[in-house]
Amino acid sequence: MKYPIMALLAAILLMVGRYTYTVAVEPPKTPPADTKAPKDSKDLKSEPAKTTKSKKPSSKSKKMVNDPIFNKLSLEEKRVILGKGTERAGIGKYTDLKAEGTYICKQCNAPLYNSTSKFDSHCGWPSFDDEIKDAVKREIDADGMRIEIMCNNCEGHLGHVFHGEGYTEKNTRHCVNSISMVFIAKGKELPKVIKRDAEDEQEESNDEAKAEKADSKPAEEAPKKSDAPSKPAG
Ligand SMILES: [Zn+2]
Repeated sequence: MKYPIMALLAAILLMVGRYTYTVAVEPPKTPPADTKAPKDSKDLKSEPAKTTKSKKPSSKSKKMVNDPIFNKLSLEEKRVILGKGTERAGIGKYTDLKAEGTYICKQCNAPLYNSTSKFDSHCGWPSFDDEIKDAVKREIDADGMRIEIMCNNCEGHLGHVFHGEGYTEKNTRHCVNSISMVFIAKGKELPKVIKRDAEDEQEESNDEAKAEKADSKPAEEAPKKSDAPSKPAG
């Protein structure tokens, strides 16, 4: 009489044990669905980070476009002025020019150098030991060593500035690409400087008119290409 009861108990225990086993094994089916959702949102988050990384020199690529408010530039001028390129040594038309006058920015007409600051460095590029006050902006070059000089008004690339070479008393050499400048002989009227800031202020005051014209603008800007590679030479 004892055995049938024992067998029954054993059977019940087995069944209960089996049930708890299957319950314990099955749950893992759901988690993968849960982990999938966060993974997707993670991917979405990482994508914008990648694109901002690849657009590292954003300010430079922006400058590669010849702003229509400024003087129109040729391909070679764009390569040097917008792409921070360098004219080949000795070919610039102002390298050996001795005439009296003012050197202005090719892109925006801002006066950059007086002929009185020009000197013979025999380096192959026009050299000046001083700039017209506040005309030139300095930045560490992409090579991390030289000091790049730009037009303070339009940020067009001019060349590089070097110190301590002993050429003149001022001990400074602005090594400038001829192609970045226009020489205006003494006595001739200087052209009006084209200022981006003045344009911006006007646009801000005409906000409503700007909004109306906004539709036609992107079409004009789209076809432009940045054709010049940026070389940190000079
Ligand atoms: Zn300029």
